[in-house]
Amino acid sequence: MTLGALAASKMSAANGMNGVDGISAATAQAPMAGTNLGFQAYSLGGELLNNPADALKKMKGYGYDQVELAFYGFDDKAGHGQFTSWGGGSNPTSAADFKKMADDAGIKIVSSHMTPTLDRGAKYDKSTETKILDFWKKIIPDHKMFGVEYIVQPSLPTINNLEDAQNVADIFNKVGALLKENGIKFGYHNHSNEFNKVVPGGEAVTPYYQRAFRRPGDTSPEPKTIEEVFIEGTEKQNVLFELDCYWTVMGQQDPLVWINKYKDRIQLLHIKDFIVIGASGAMNFENIFHDFYANGHRNWFVEIEDINSGKQLERAEASAKWLKSKGFVK
Ligand code: MG
Repeated sequence: MTLGALAASKMSAANGMNGVDGISAATAQAPMAGTNLGFQAYSLGGELLNNPADALKKMKGYGYDQVELAFYGFDDKAGHGQFTSWGGGSNPTSAADFKKMADDAGIKIVSSHMTPTLDRGAKYDKSTETKILDFWKKIIPDHKMFGVEYIVQPSLPTINNLEDAQNVADIFNKVGALLKENGIKFGYHNHSNEFNKVVPGGEAVTPYYQRAFRRPGDTSPEPKTIEEVFIEGTEKQNVLFELDCYWTVMGQQDPLVWINKYKDRIQLLHIKDFIVIGASGAMNFENIFHDFYANGHRNWFVEIEDINSGKQLERAEASAKWLKSKGFVK
């Protein structure tokens, strides 16, 4: 087979994926040429924030094409968004400057992680809904300027029981509808606590750390995980899910089970390992990528923890090298 024929057959196979499993032509998009290497900006920590222009160019050199933002915050005093370490920093980069640096580096801003700030312990309910929606309204203009396709909430609001989880799902639906009106898809990203189970009732367990244990003789239905309440309690057209494969494993779950149970809801992945992608051998990335692509999806982001190591760029480079060496990564 010639190289051209190989490329053509790959292309038709990839297009074929888009028609399966009820993924509509409207939501499925043409696969991008070559690899589609994305990274979560959080992975770089200070190595990004201290010199974003330089770090973004280095990442492009390692093979990364696209980024999911972190560290963006709206500065009420300045009246615009900026990038700084959480908790403040001495040398913020404005949203507009960051966008230009990404463009200059040839890195596309595809997604962004954002979480509304509430008072400590405040829950998602009628008393906080307006504040939550106002937060999202404020950050929309900068995100239109970035040209993002997605904004993803990466952290869990306070949840003690099933009702709390359902209230969060209700508000996620509203956030998703608001962002959709603005041409942006809203998603939720899990850690491990989303796989804790919640039961009805206002009894305060240690907030979302304690699993719901069934007592002998309990014939009530098996409690659902918070992640299930979120997925099943939100509208497909309003809320998608970004599965963090590493945190799913830390929640004692198999990412493949979730990717295949919710084929049309899990539309983004965090490709994450203990540190460098592929190094632990504990994550079955071949099957994860295979099934994710087979479900018609294409966007995923490398995430690396331990962001104060001073070795973040080095680890991002090693991760890209490993991923690019694997035929199963498109
Ligand atoms: Mg993650």
